[in-house]
Amino acid sequence: MKRSFAASLAMAMALFALPAIAEPVKVVATFTILGDMVRQIGGDEVAVTTLVGPDGDAHVYEPTPADARALGAAKLVVVNGLGMEGWIDRLVKASGYKGPVTVTSTGVKPIAGEEEHDEAGHEDHGHDHGAHDPHAWQSVANARIYADNILKGLVAAAPDKAATLRANHAAFKAKLDAVEAEIKAALKPIPRKDRKIVTSHDAFGYYGKAYGVTFLAPVGMSTESEAAAGDIAKLIRQIKTEKIKAVFVENIADPRLLEQITRETGARIGGRVYSDALSAADGPAATYVDMMRHNLAQFTRALAPAS
Ligand SMILES: [Zn+2]
Repeated sequence: MKRSFAASLAMAMALFALPAIAEPVKVVATFTILGDMVRQIGGDEVAVTTLVGPDGDAHVYEPTPADARALGAAKLVVVNGLGMEGWIDRLVKASGYKGPVTVTSTGVKPIAGEEEHDEAGHEDHGHDHGAHDPHAWQSVANARIYADNILKGLVAAAPDKAATLRANHAAFKAKLDAVEAEIKAALKPIPRKDRKIVTSHDAFGYYGKAYGVTFLAPVGMSTESEAAAGDIAKLIRQIKTEKIKAVFVENIADPRLLEQITRETGARIGGRVYSDALSAADGPAATYVDMMRHNLAQFTRALAPAS
């Protein structure tokens, strides 16, 4: 019997229709670091939309109508919390989204938002600091907590996929263990007193605490704040007296302030590190694990004693 092309096509489609019924779960993540974690754990079971794109600054983001539409179609929204996304509540409200929100930093021991500033001895200069440092993902131990929270959210959104999600989650955590061991091993030979790094804004507090590195920055924990002249002068003095060599521009930041600081100190910009956003897919920090590995290579190269 001869079948028409259309009939063959219909049969072929019927064969594929069964697995195709299980559409990927639509998840919205606020920024690329979270988007990657959702992808690692969700795999093919999720379709992730990331609101703030590669090299984007989630502190000062302005949501678009397309973002509201993405939320409207989502089954799960994944956010950092700790005051990172000051714009998210308004966006959720505007979109009419009524579903669950996974706050990835739930369970993290937060670093106080004002601590660094008090130590630096500068006064409040009229802008809001969050109560906590939001950059918790910069410690791999915290990334494990993020992964657990994301797994919980995804399993609740797609209970029939639980086995796959759990397997992906275990594989992701093994990658986290590996990169954490690399960070500790690479920093070990560098004396603690030499581990001093300048970055654009205070995004590496959790990294510093976890791995014994002192980070200095002319701007605080949110890029919303402007560098105060007194802070810049103090940082320049500190770079000179402590002979700090490691100065890094962040991918999300305007490099001009650090360029000015390096001109006045003779320090050199060691390269580009990724703090609050991943690179584009063809860049050196397209995933969370690649970001941690890239930053580590940059840091250790600048800190390594001259041989
Ligand atoms: Zn930041």
